[in-house]
Amino acid sequence: MAENFAVPKYLTTMSLILGFMVLFTTGTSILLPALGDISGFLRNDTESINSTSTDYGHIVYQYASAVLNPTSPNDIASLILSANNNSAPFSVAARGQGHSVRGQALTSDGVVINMTALISNGSRIVVSESPSLGSYADVGGEQRWIDVLRATLDRGLTPVSWTDYLYLSVGGTLSNAGISGQTFRYGPQINNVYELDVVTGKGELVTCSSNKVPGLFYAVLGGLGQFGIITRARIPLEPAPKRAKWVRMMYSNFSAFSKDQERLMANNGFDYLEGFLLMKQGPLDLSFYPLLDQPRITALINQYGFIYYIEAAKYYDDSTRTTVDKVVEKLINGLSFVPGFLFDQDVLYIDFLDRVHTEEEKLRSLGLWDIAHPWLNIFVPKSRILDIDSGVFRNILLKQNVPTAVTLIYPMNRKKWDGRMSAVIPDEDVFYVVGLLHASGFNDWQAFDEVNRQILQFCNDAGILVKQYLPHYETQEDWKNHFGTKWQSFQDRKVRFDPNKILAPGQRIFSVL
Ligand code: FAD
Repeated sequence: MAENFAVPKYLTTMSLILGFMVLFTTGTSILLPALGDISGFLRNDTESINSTSTDYGHIVYQYASAVLNPTSPNDIASLILSANNNSAPFSVAARGQGHSVRGQALTSDGVVINMTALISNGSRIVVSESPSLGSYADVGGEQRWIDVLRATLDRGLTPVSWTDYLYLSVGGTLSNAGISGQTFRYGPQINNVYELDVVTGKGELVTCSSNKVPGLFYAVLGGLGQFGIITRARIPLEPAPKRAKWVRMMYSNFSAFSKDQERLMANNGFDYLEGFLLMKQGPLDLSFYPLLDQPRITALINQYGFIYYIEAAKYYDDSTRTTVDKVVEKLINGLSFVPGFLFDQDVLYIDFLDRVHTEEEKLRSLGLWDIAHPWLNIFVPKSRILDIDSGVFRNILLKQNVPTAVTLIYPMNRKKWDGRMSAVIPDEDVFYVVGLLHASGFNDWQAFDEVNRQILQFCNDAGILVKQYLPHYETQEDWKNHFGTKWQSFQDRKVRFDPNKILAPGQRIFSVL
């Protein structure tokens, strides 16, 4: 038993004896013969337990009783069957890349499934083609999107919907939604899945799609890991472009910025569309811009306190190489950015999609990657986005001099989201994601959390019906409000697919850690 962590509530010792697992609970010992075949893949040494005890957020720490390194989906099913058959069912938390920020992939006392163990299990990214589906990839739920990208590019193909950062697992992003600048056009990643293999909370291995067991398919997509563990996803593919024209346009006026974003979204010409806030209280990363231009950009930011910029990209290949500049010129013609504050780069498609990794390497070299991340992401109805500018950016962030690391603001179309899925979004046709991606020291994240609390309070008081993305709540009442009209079906699905409520306890929806 590892010594340097809290003793779990009901498991005081876990040991492996002769292929059987014996859980010594306070006073009783329970024999779990069903675990015999996976006992060799369970670890409870300090290193294993500690490596799964926190996440990218570095805010929540929970210590599991053991970590399973599965060699196949069957091992996952065996563990879940055993968890259910235990006299007191224990919790099971799938851990993809552990890039949650609020302990969503953690458990105290239960077992963490280290999904990355499946990566070494042969090729789990298979590209195929069929007359009915065209090109698609079958990818393990444990795979990272960067590896999916590389494998599909080798065949001249690519998925169309992404996250900004690609070192996230397929199962992890499909449990949330998977959003980025392509979402306005193609919908989130959960809208770009043909089929899933899922190990349900009952330990059943089920293949599901919109035609086959649709209840499970729609439950799992955006389901916060509550109904099953995704072991395979079938993702549609398109021919891959070669390069991207990558542009940024700066605004001092929010209403002009959001109007132009909505206009670009409506005319559907760019392949990627996002927006950001640049604040004088920084940290300011101006590395995208030519050195000669950086002083005048800093001057613009200082003049206004903060500015906004639209980031967009147009992909191209050999057949569109000679026309792409004209197309981009036409798309930006008539936009109201500050004259002279348009910047561009021409990069490989893979480098564009993998752009955040470049930032990661920089931050890692400065020791600024593995720090606390008290993030807040909200979906805001379009009709209230101006209130976010005045009430949140100007009144909270600027007045309190809050140094946000990255602030995202970009619009999406409700019609590109399938309402049958578990993910929740605002009611309006157009809504924005506002992401406050704070970074802080290990001991001062509470100050950012207080800012987040003020922001949510402001939205509540002003009647702005926001929905949290990558949600985090303290009470079931909050979850009920979050899901709104979907709460009943969310609960029903839980009863149907995970009746003992053993899966993903770190989300704190049905269990309090
Ligand atoms: P984990 O943190 O390991 O798990 C998250 C949840 O999913 C847990 O509840 C876990 O139990 C469950 N889970 C994990 N694997 C499975 C599985 N196979 N089946 C079922 N449930 C599973 N999100 C976006 O949408 N867009 C972005 O642009 C974006 N950028 C990000 C950038 C960074 C630097 C970081 C740290 C996060 C970003 N995210 C983004 C958020 C990210 O998508 C989520 O945190 C996602 O859950 C991370 O995937 P993961 O593999 O690390 O999941």
